[in-house]
Amino acid sequence: MNPILSRRTFLKRSVLTATTAAVATALPANAEAADPSGYLTTLFDLSRCVGCGECVTACREIHEGDVPQPKRPFPTMIPARVPVEDFSQNQEEEERLTPYNWLTIQEASVEVNGEEQTLYIPRRCMHCINPPCVKLCPWGAAVQEKNGLSRINDALCLGGAKCRAACPWHIPQRQTGVGLYLDILPSLAGNGVMYKCDRCHNRLKAGENPACIDACPEGVQSIGPREAMVKKAKALATEMNGYIYGLDENGGTTTLYVSPVPFHRLNEAIDKGPGCPDLAPHKNSMAMAENVGKALLLAPIAGMAAAAGRIFLTLKHASKETP
Ligand code: SF4
Ligand code: SF4
Ligand code: SF4
Repeated sequence: MNPILSRRTFLKRSVLTATTAAVATALPANAEAADPSGYLTTLFDLSRCVGCGECVTACREIHEGDVPQPKRPFPTMIPARVPVEDFSQNQEEEERLTPYNWLTIQEASVEVNGEEQTLYIPRRCMHCINPPCVKLCPWGAAVQEKNGLSRINDALCLGGAKCRAACPWHIPQRQTGVGLYLDILPSLAGNGVMYKCDRCHNRLKAGENPACIDACPEGVQSIGPREAMVKKAKALATEMNGYIYGLDENGGTTTLYVSPVPFHRLNEAIDKGPGCPDLAPHKNSMAMAENVGKALLLAPIAGMAAAAGRIFLTLKHASKETP
């Protein structure tokens, strides 16, 4: 940390100014969300996926360097139960989601029309219509953009993993030893930064498709407004006498899967566990009164925390530029 900006100075200045700044940022960025029927939605036709992994490679290439090398030794966390999660020694891992691998391919050996077959299922963040990872982030680091995608601002995330606990699929993955917590509260807050698919938001802003879509040689994914993609998914499911996942899961997601096999059978057949999300039905977690109450309570805190984080980063950059 720059000695010109000590932690004490940061906290003092933040407390003085966060209240004012929070007026402008009292709600997480999802407050301005557009009509969900227009949210950008991707449709996976699982009957086409051959498991080649080109999409995984494209995702890794486009986001290479997004996760910095961690600083060692890692701070000792208080309480000690906050686990160190370090994937930096195994950055090539593709069999599960990690901070370095935002897309993974699951395999399911199942019977399709009387024949034993392997279906391949690309998995990453579902980009929920009403994302608990965003609504319950205590630091305002997770945001939902107007087109519906959700992403984690790695400059503000402290790695407390509330987003992963709130996510029905436990998608976000923590890398310890990186990020803001090292500068401000290394033993007391978070324990790194959480990472997940950001739906290539920078490419979308530039008018390009997400990298995984363009890289697929089989045309497995298509993308468009949710209403149109739901229609397309239903037509495809009718055509293949198949099934849809994502219409209602967690209140509806902007990722839809169409499969010739029921999803409960795919769910039984895939490996599940840390970094390997299930395909089970999930109720709308944000509709539960308890969570909504928590979200409302947390919103001002998130705004203040986000404001404090931004102030810290601004002061840090300013002090670096001071000769
Ligand atoms: S799938 Fe999980 S991480 Fe992705 S938007 Fe939904 S709650 Fe957030
Ligand atoms: S949308 Fe972008 S970040 Fe998400 S899995 Fe595809 S390539 Fe990776
Ligand atoms: S690139 Fe296409 S076919 Fe290959 S694994 Fe990914 S989605 Fe499946």
